[in-house]
Amino acid sequence: MTDSRYDVIIVGGGIVGLAVALEITKRFPRLRLLLLEKENELGRHQSGHNSGVIHSGIYYKPGSLKARLCVEGARAMVQFCREYGIPHEICGKVIVATHEEEFPRLEELRRRGEANGLTGVQSIGREQLQEIEPHASGLRALVVPSTGITSYAAVCAKYAELIRAQGGTILTSTEVTGLRDSTGDVTVETRGPVFSTGYLINCAGLYSDRISRMSGGESDVIIVPFRGEYYDLVPERSSLVRSLIYPVPDPQFPFLGVHFTRRITGTVDAGPNAVLAFRREGYRRRDFKLNELATSLAFPGFWRMAAKHWRSGSDEFHRSFSKGEFVRALQRLVPEVREQDLVPGGSGVRAQALRRDGALVDDFQFAPSGKILHVLNVPSPAATASLMIGRYIVNEAESAIRPR
Ligand SMILES: Cc1cc2nc3c(=O)[nH]c(=O)nc-3n(C[C@H](O)[C@H](O)[C@H](O)COP(=O)(O)OP(=O)(O)OC[C@H]3O[C@@H](n4cnc5c(N)ncnc54)[C@H](O)[C@@H]3O)c2cc1C
Repeated sequence: MTDSRYDVIIVGGGIVGLAVALEITKRFPRLRLLLLEKENELGRHQSGHNSGVIHSGIYYKPGSLKARLCVEGARAMVQFCREYGIPHEICGKVIVATHEEEFPRLEELRRRGEANGLTGVQSIGREQLQEIEPHASGLRALVVPSTGITSYAAVCAKYAELIRAQGGTILTSTEVTGLRDSTGDVTVETRGPVFSTGYLINCAGLYSDRISRMSGGESDVIIVPFRGEYYDLVPERSSLVRSLIYPVPDPQFPFLGVHFTRRITGTVDAGPNAVLAFRREGYRRRDFKLNELATSLAFPGFWRMAAKHWRSGSDEFHRSFSKGEFVRALQRLVPEVREQDLVPGGSGVRAQALRRDGALVDDFQFAPSGKILHVLNVPSPAATASLMIGRYIVNEAESAIRPR
């Protein structure tokens, strides 16, 4: 016996689950849609703990889903913020090379930007950099004018308001604890009611692999949590940064390196680093959950990843415990920044899919399987790209969910 039947159930009320729900309620207003979120409010995890950057799409391999959905998604996000009065700003950013060895990588980013259809990307030298960011230091830089900032918490709240207005149902404090494939439908168990649905979309972020396993799927990936810690610049020193100052990223690692971000609220933060977390929702260094750590350690890909990335991983750990090291990484970009200019800020935990062969999955990954579609890897820039991810997933699932 189930308490209610829906045409589509979405697990997870982060920005991706909400964007998918929004697209479905817009495209198929007659469908009965339910979104289930375990926390007592929406966007509590990655979607509420990020840098708030509307990424341009410069970093991603031409032709990848990340490149396509980010470039189109950034335009759609800016349009959405304009339409609904959500604070945002197209402030642009600089990516700064501080050593000559970084020049080829900077040039490769410029080439990627062009291939991905970005306009206005420009290579500049030291003097021009100082006109844009007077306190930044570097040998060369790329200016990316289309990068912006917003509040993804505000975007989530607006998505939810529109979903409800279009007839969708959202239940918070409702954790999905089991899935069963019954004749024709998927049965969805929670600690309270039991639901059934014709189609289920798993957007559970840090727990998407667990939901996938609940449905009997032998997934080739697990989610590994990487915590990103921030420091805030004290208000008297926030004039050191006008907009966004980034380093040239390490191509071996799917993270961007510690950088400076001016938030839409006007404060400036520095970070995030990328430290392996011992708990999936582990926002503090001391957070630890034995069964979650054991899942990572028992996965063969974990040890292959550790063998490959042990050096950068141990540098990140060191920076996590040593403010001095963190500051030294920042001083490469803004030499005037000092330890006393920074106070501990927030943190966020990234859901990063890891393959059995030890590779960190780079592109977005979606796995449709029968009556279920699993969203298995949607790290940054998924908040930027969320509207386009919603459209992409609904296109993938359309033949299964279209009302007959
Ligand atoms: C530190 C950091 C900085 C970032 N910076 C940026 C940025 O500047 N720009 C950008 O575009 N992207 C950025 N990102 C990436 C972006 O925030 C994420 O890609 C995006 O938020 C992912 O959304 P999501 O909905 O998949 O995940 P989440 O927001 O984590 O949502 C998943 C939801 O599923 C729920 N859930 C899990 N299990 C269950 C269950 N069993 N039952 C019911 N609900 C469940 C969780 O409670 C959660 O609310 C950043 C991420 C981090 C961590």
